[in-house]
Amino acid sequence: RYTIAAFVETAMPSLSFEFFPPKTAQQREQLDQTVTKLAAFGPDYVSVTFGAGGSTLNYTRETLAHLKHMHGLEVAPHLSCMGGTREEIAALLDDYRAAGYRRLVALRGDLPSGMASPGDFRYAAELVRFVRERTGDHFRIEVAAYPETHPQAADALVDLEHFRAKIAAGADGAITQYFYNPDAYFRFVADVRRLGVSVPIVPGIMPIANFSQLTRFSASCGAEIPRWIAKRMQALGDDAQAIRELGAELVAQLCRQLLEGGAPGLHFYTLNRARPTMAVLERLR
Ligand code: FAD
Repeated sequence: RYTIAAFVETAMPSLSFEFFPPKTAQQREQLDQTVTKLAAFGPDYVSVTFGAGGSTLNYTRETLAHLKHMHGLEVAPHLSCMGGTREEIAALLDDYRAAGYRRLVALRGDLPSGMASPGDFRYAAELVRFVRERTGDHFRIEVAAYPETHPQAADALVDLEHFRAKIAAGADGAITQYFYNPDAYFRFVADVRRLGVSVPIVPGIMPIANFSQLTRFSASCGAEIPRWIAKRMQALGDDAQAIRELGAELVAQLCRQLLEGGAPGLHFYTLNRARPTMAVLERLR
């Protein structure tokens, strides 16, 4: 583990990378190249997303097995319960246990358009409780956290209570939605500590590569892009290289602030591309 060495020695922050399951041969090849490059940074584990309503189930399974056996990585399947039945989720847990996986990222997910039944679980807390009932302490369970409040939450304080309930149901830690305002993270952590939550809350980091795409995506998932960052990016127009450089610099600065402020690690949303995440990690050395 040669990177982020400067702070690894003092604080041992965790490092994890998130991938989505590729569907085509070309996407698979791209993921292989990405994983080979990022594995050199010595992640504690890598996670693989799960499409809404189980739509990527087979691809997710395939990708997990590939990352474990071909790249020798510890893997964490994402498991979203929206649209799933107790029997389906139980079968999947049995599969993952038999495959030797020891981690899970447990989520509610979102009901895909066209899917009529929300399934047997309404919220991630119910899924976490079910996983614990069925598999005891086998899995280390991470849940999602929203420093800027989940977009569907009735209000910010209620959302904090719902987060607390997921931890009380048996989660071991949390990964946040991405954000660019470190104060939102520090405030969230302080608030949930006051509610009695003591598990590690790892910030989710979205490197900035394609700024206009990021802006559209952020609007739908409730992540705020600070005005000053948007203005600086807009001023660079179509200069993709300058946008990538400024993005890497700003995100590396965010990571530094988070780690110096006590964040227990970093979880990168890689979008299956190596360069944007590497550009940030290299600046953290
Ligand atoms: P929950 O914790 O259940 O919360 C959802 C909403 O319900 C919140 O507004 C909460 O306040 C509210 N709520 C909770 N409990 C109650 C209650 N008892 N009564 C009333 N309201 C309640 N999506 C995927 O489809 N696949 C993935 O692989 C995936 N990976 C993700 C990884 C991370 C790290 C993150 C942060 C998100 C991921 N998502 C994924 C997105 C996630 O599924 C959505 O954000 C989803 O809308 C909420 O999931 P959750 O687990 O946070 O839900």
